[in-house]
Amino acid sequence: MPRSEKSLIERIRHRARSGPAVIQGIGDDCAVLRVPSGHDLLVTTDFTLENVHFRREWHSAEVIGRRCITRGLSDIAAMGGEPRAAFLSLALESRTPQKWVDRFLEGLMAAAREWNVPLAGGDTAQSLGGIQADIVVVGSAPKGTAIARSGARPGDAIYVTGSLGGSAAAIAQLRKGKLRAQDYQRHFHPTARIEVGRWLRRRQLASAIIDLSDGLSTDLAHLCEESGVGAEIDAAAIPRARVGRGQETVSTALALHGGEDYELLFTSRRKTPATIFGVSVTCIGRIRRGSEITLIEGQMRRDLVPRGWEHFRSRV
Ligand code: ADP
Ligand code: MG
Repeated sequence: MPRSEKSLIERIRHRARSGPAVIQGIGDDCAVLRVPSGHDLLVTTDFTLENVHFRREWHSAEVIGRRCITRGLSDIAAMGGEPRAAFLSLALESRTPQKWVDRFLEGLMAAAREWNVPLAGGDTAQSLGGIQADIVVVGSAPKGTAIARSGARPGDAIYVTGSLGGSAAAIAQLRKGKLRAQDYQRHFHPTARIEVGRWLRRRQLASAIIDLSDGLSTDLAHLCEESGVGAEIDAAAIPRARVGRGQETVSTALALHGGEDYELLFTSRRKTPATIFGVSVTCIGRIRRGSEITLIEGQMRRDLVPRGWEHFRSRV
């Protein structure tokens, strides 16, 4: 590990900022947080593991730090919540360069600052194989207003924000060794859809939300299962990302099954605008009775089998 644990924590503490939710941040046995009275607490935790979620040859330390916290922020967005504080547990190899750690924190803190989220604590340890980071994001929402996955009902329209499949296409191109950051910024510089989630909650527009981290086919299956419903998706309606030097549109397969887009999928029975806070919102289908999820491609109808990101099966 670079330097001693104590001096590393000092460096982290030096960068961490405070925020209104943090009464006691880094430096004590526990952080002390306070959320507005009448709010429920939201807590999410996500691993970022070397050679599972990133490769040091493909991703700069800043990019890995940003993607690490964005995973947690995206979960808060998917509840319509307000992020309040983050916690970082970091396992580094003894040979991890100090510079790498500094740049990782730089990327992570830059994304945290965008949402005014203070880093309020964490843990530091030595890893015997690969860098591992676990991010905890604590958020809040006014009592009873957090938007669950379980609220979708037959007849609701299904919407997604932004465009899909871009991150998986970026990984595929990185594997072939031909992708510059500017060829698909959102993979290297993702932003959680916090504003969209918050707006949907305030307007009471969404009956259910999930963030697209594993891939549309898998995350939609999660939402349908929790809601006890089925769905119909119109393949032609799915907004597909454009990636690479030529900004080619990704395949329908990648848009259906590619992971880590950090967009939101939500259901609604009310009219929804085409853009929310500058982010496009596209209707891709409808919730149906039963438990089947059907993909409509022209005249063809087939079962949409969840084939998104599955741990113990895929690696970056
Ligand atoms: P403890 O022995 O009680 O776990 P530590 O020495 O691990 O305490 O941590 C001291 C302080 O530094 C705590 O406030 C902890 O939350 C914080 N801290 C430790 N590691 C990190 C990290 N990677 N990121 C942010 N804060 C950290
Ligand atoms: Mg500790």
